[in-house]
Amino acid sequence: MTAIEEQQILITGGAGFVGSHLTERLIEDNDVIALDDLSAGKQDDVPEKSTFKQGDICNRDFLDELTDDIDIVFHQAAVVSVQRSIENPETCHEVNTDATLHLLELAREKDFRLVLASSAAIYGQPETVPISENDSKTPTSPYGIDKWTIDRYAQIYNDLYDTETVALRYFNIYGPRQRGGDYGGVISIFRDQALAGEPITVDGDGTQTRDFVHIDDVVKANILAATTEHTGEAYNIGRGQQTSIAELAETIQTLANTDSEVTYTEPRPGDIEESVADISKAREELGFEPTVSLEEGLETVLEEARGN
Ligand code: UDP
Repeated sequence: MTAIEEQQILITGGAGFVGSHLTERLIEDNDVIALDDLSAGKQDDVPEKSTFKQGDICNRDFLDELTDDIDIVFHQAAVVSVQRSIENPETCHEVNTDATLHLLELAREKDFRLVLASSAAIYGQPETVPISENDSKTPTSPYGIDKWTIDRYAQIYNDLYDTETVALRYFNIYGPRQRGGDYGGVISIFRDQALAGEPITVDGDGTQTRDFVHIDDVVKANILAATTEHTGEAYNIGRGQQTSIAELAETIQTLANTDSEVTYTEPRPGDIEESVADISKAREELGFEPTVSLEEGLETVLEEARGN
């Protein structure tokens, strides 16, 4: 992999799930500023050698100040929950779209590269799988609309102003430090249930599928995006494998060696039935190759929760 060295880097959401892993990976060979408002992230997760700045991504003056002399921005700060965006679309829009547009303006003015977190949510209910980048975009939540907007803006800034942008369309990322609870991803929810000996709650019949990609592979994708010559592009970032939620529940049950039973509840309204990424574009243009299998990845999540 092309290394990134001696760069001045800003990571928004630097105390969050993806941002803190990126900071950790980049801090050895670069100067890294981790920006976070700590609404979801934890300062303890930010490596000590980085410069931590607490602040709101919507604070333009603060962003202006932080981006002086920066070479690369990894923009991970966002309201990441689809459910939260449904409850509060305006706040989600301010954080996920308005703040990102301002960052794009700063990238245009100051000439830094901007790698942005987009999302599989932009595709909505896919017509066919695997999903490739040119498939139709019919987002079904304010979150999906906001991510689609910034994904397009990134491309347009590249086309109009030669601003170096790359958008990464994350599928279902999981790994250590992912939050559990109502707004967490399904893997952290199932992990907490399994380790507490509580029922593992599958929505519906569990035949719905997702493409689970481990955080270590997502960090690699970001580094490739920061160095690629293919700017103005968007890439699906998944593992390229689909797993049903029922299968996921059973795998976690087995790996956690728990007495928890798998229970089937009401389907989630509007749930996506099938989701899996076609990652051939990322493979060909970025050299992206996911390496962490689901079982290996789930072990990292269970180890963390067991305190190993
Ligand atoms: N899910 C589930 N039980 C839970 C939480 C989620 O069965 O306690 C299912 C959910 O219905 C969906 C899948 O897991 O089909 C992935 O949900 P998540 O919220 O992690 O991601 P997204 O739906 O945004 O892809």
